[in-house]
Amino acid sequence: MHAPTRDDASQPRTTRFAPSPTGALHLGNARTFLINWALARKSAWSILLRIEDIDHPRVKPDTVEQARTDLTWLGLDWDSEAPLQSTELAPCHQALNDLGRAGRIFPCSLSRREIAAAQSAPHDSDPGLRYEASLRPPHAGEQIVNPDPSLTWRFLVDNTTQLVEDRFFGKHRFHIADGVGDFPVWTATGGPAYQLAVTVDDARQGITDVVRASDLLPSAARQQAIQHVLGLPTPHWWHLPLVRGKDGRRLAKRHGDTRLSQLRETGVPACRVIGLMAYWCGLCPEPTELNSSDFLASFDINLLPQEDITFIPEHLAWLNA
Ligand code: GLU
Repeated sequence: MHAPTRDDASQPRTTRFAPSPTGALHLGNARTFLINWALARKSAWSILLRIEDIDHPRVKPDTVEQARTDLTWLGLDWDSEAPLQSTELAPCHQALNDLGRAGRIFPCSLSRREIAAAQSAPHDSDPGLRYEASLRPPHAGEQIVNPDPSLTWRFLVDNTTQLVEDRFFGKHRFHIADGVGDFPVWTATGGPAYQLAVTVDDARQGITDVVRASDLLPSAARQQAIQHVLGLPTPHWWHLPLVRGKDGRRLAKRHGDTRLSQLRETGVPACRVIGLMAYWCGLCPEPTELNSSDFLASFDINLLPQEDITFIPEHLAWLNA
């Protein structure tokens, strides 16, 4: 089955804010959400807030409310909120059944160590483990009726290339089998893995435009592979450059405390944060105090640099001045 695309110009469009409550939102998240919000408000897309709380061992309950407070503090709004992702898992169970019936999943009980031991040299830039086809159980590819949800299930990747057509980054080709290989869609904790949950929820919630940081670009290929098997539409992808520290690593605690809650509590005004974001988005030659409406008025996706942003201590000093 081949998935339809979301390309009917007359259809209303919907995007989502999809924070994971596994930690506090930081300046990198703020930039992605501001751009997502400005794209939506400029183009009359509606915005759904969906808190993705399925990563159970890592979820920190107090960060659910904190995410809403952080977004509101920045002057961002949304049109509706989905129930917490973990509270509506029936559609994911259904999708697991459908993948089983299509012969596209198999159970896996191997440890990370066993998977790593079988791994040859990585073929693409995807970090992490690759599940080699040689590890598949002999019955992989057979139809499975009612897969047991207390097991880990992997998606049986075919030997094709996924073309991801990104509205910001252009066309990228991914050969998933040479990258991560057969990836998990269900975990032994009894719930969907990220790739399945996000694919199912984006489709059933009518998401036409996915805006997020570029570290998830390889995931778009995996999500497309699932969409094609389940006959789900592929949304428009907008992957945005990352914010990194001076050491080239993704923005994190080691680069200074850039949590929005911390900035707020220490008295940094939101207009300073937005002004820094505007500078990072190519909207002004240096950080300037702005509110979210000013940001929206000057926002133009074509001004956004293609390169990742480097966060330097001077940026934090500007916020704290
Ligand atoms: N919840 C994911 C995160 O916070 C984002 C998922 C997505 O945008 O697809 O990293």
